[in-house]
Amino acid sequence: MLEKVVIANRGEIALRILRACKELGIKTVAVHSTADRELKHVLLADETICIGPAPSTKSYLNIPALIAAAEVSGADAIHPGYGFLSENADFAEQVERSGFIFIGPTADVIRLMGDKVSAINAMKKAGVPCVPGSDGPLGSDINKNKDIAKRIGYPIIIKASGGGGGRGMRVVRNEEALEESIAMTKAEAKAAFNNDMVYMEKYLENPRHVEIQVLADTHGNAIYLAERDCSMQRRHQKVVEEAPAPGISEEVRRDIGERCANACREIGYRGAGTFEFLYENGEFYFIEMNTRIQVEHPVTEMITGVDLVKEQLRIAAGLPLSFKQEDIKVKGHAIECRINAEDPKTFLPSPGKVQHLHAPGGLGVRWDSHIYAGYTVPPHYDSMIAKLITYGETRELAIRRMQNALSETIIDGIKTNIPLQELILADENFQQGGTNIHYLEKKLGMRD
Ligand code: ADP
Repeated sequence: MLEKVVIANRGEIALRILRACKELGIKTVAVHSTADRELKHVLLADETICIGPAPSTKSYLNIPALIAAAEVSGADAIHPGYGFLSENADFAEQVERSGFIFIGPTADVIRLMGDKVSAINAMKKAGVPCVPGSDGPLGSDINKNKDIAKRIGYPIIIKASGGGGGRGMRVVRNEEALEESIAMTKAEAKAAFNNDMVYMEKYLENPRHVEIQVLADTHGNAIYLAERDCSMQRRHQKVVEEAPAPGISEEVRRDIGERCANACREIGYRGAGTFEFLYENGEFYFIEMNTRIQVEHPVTEMITGVDLVKEQLRIAAGLPLSFKQEDIKVKGHAIECRINAEDPKTFLPSPGKVQHLHAPGGLGVRWDSHIYAGYTVPPHYDSMIAKLITYGETRELAIRRMQNALSETIIDGIKTNIPLQELILADENFQQGGTNIHYLEKKLGMRD
């Protein structure tokens, strides 16, 4: 097993990693910015190292400072969590070159999956279903591009190969708008990602977001752990997630899951990962792979009983997976609500001091959060302050438990999006299950 791990992150995921390390008897090093001295995992870690001032560019994204922290503490591995440097191939490379284990896939695999055109090509080759598209980057010949679009059929979407975070995309509904849209997306992509490569895909009008969790070790084993539905989104940000996805049969799950596990073996994947798909009319369309642990991983843990972060640590230590595919059984239903420090109506961040906190509890209720009474939510980072997860034998019970848990939660001193979550949980169509990725924005009047 690993002996000492640097947790290169903050907030709830840093605490989640710390807990997993403790269960495995691994020592922890919490690195933090000057604004984060009071973080819960910093107070609980075996060692702490301040790596820089509050802005993340100077601390959590500061590669030399993170590697120095591993050297000074004598750690053997670095866990990047999600966000920050978790999908940065250069970071993974430098970590390994400096003699530490990067808890995630190799830099080459991160690079392959980080570029959308190369990721799609690799997935197609591996038998993962993709959105019909240009099969590679668009050239400068507008007539050729018009032919590609005609073949795919309008509406189409122009996407930046280096894009991320829902940026660098443009929907085109007719041929007249094509040339200018390509030029604009290229210019934006160049400015935002320093890479003007763009490609074309069929635009799916009303898909759901369904993703497959995978785990792969360094012994050639790869398994899938069912799917999650993350269609409840606002501005491409997931708000509520659940597992399994409503209406997915065991057969459909097995087919797409096996394709993903097989793709892991083909590309030499290592660690935890997620294949994201758009799902429409019973078909899966690959959009991207996240080569890291995800925010919504707990819902998968609740329905499979697998501790995904502990598996990440075991894989990094060179151990085989603790489970075989046939051991993975889906049982019950889990829902996660992301609790953000923000105004529920304007969505503006609401940092500040938590005056009073009452966390929910009871059977089937999980509270993954770093906040406590007296803790001040700093203004410098993501506004997510807690993840509330409920489990039930049925989806109805998981929903009922979530409603109870939300109503019990008291967070005084800052505003949170709990009223929005209550609105979603009470929504008739959500309760039915299977709403698409535009549903929440329509409900909020942000879209026709
Ligand atoms: P990013 O890396 O920026 O998150 P993705 O490729 O994951 O980009 O796409 C983000 C979102 O954009 C998707 O969740 C979906 O809402 C929308 N989108 C992307 N591709 C398509 C498509 N072909 N058809 C419809 N919507 C799409």
